[in-house]
Amino acid sequence: MGHTLRREPIYLLMIAIYPGSFDPITLGHLDIITRSSKLYEQVVVVVSRNPSKNPLFSVEKRMAQIKEATQPLSNVAVDSFDGLTVSYAREKQANVLLRGLRVLSDFEKELQMAHTNKTLSDDIETVFLATSTEYGFLSSSLVKEIAKFGGPIDHLVPKHIAADIEKCYGKASFQQ
Ligand code: ADP
Repeated sequence: MGHTLRREPIYLLMIAIYPGSFDPITLGHLDIITRSSKLYEQVVVVVSRNPSKNPLFSVEKRMAQIKEATQPLSNVAVDSFDGLTVSYAREKQANVLLRGLRVLSDFEKELQMAHTNKTLSDDIETVFLATSTEYGFLSSSLVKEIAKFGGPIDHLVPKHIAADIEKCYGKASFQQ
């Protein structure tokens, strides 16, 4: 006698949310967004309003920066959220929560967060995309650190964001 497969619901519309601080969005984030836009019907990049960090850019400014950077991607939207990510996902009927993985230290905290979110909402799956090799070192805080000391950041963030950062810290003075 063969065993019976339990039929799980099939998601016809896969909506993925990509939450983060994005202070500011980097080419590493954009790489994850571009690749995930080919995997899901809709990707919503959501900027966390979590006030525990001291951000360089306001949430509204970060959203505008992301909108401009993702403009060519027709199935990518930008939003912000306050509170629990899983509550936001449920409200938007998103089935996937996207996170990017760079190094082993990311893995530990990301896995803990994924497990925590699973206890809060069983029907939302965390999906990890591995960084592209050229962006494995890249983070928003690294970009800010370089800019603070006058180093070049044009190869790390989109041009309009490099200009925004230079308005905060002054133009790059570093000579190679
Ligand atoms: P958070 O403060 O929530 O970690 P971030 O804006 O720093 O927000 O990052 C959002 C997500 O993007 C996280 O899952 C992070 O691991 C991932 N990420 C950040 N930089 C990169 C990168 N260079 N390549 C791949 N994923 C990245």
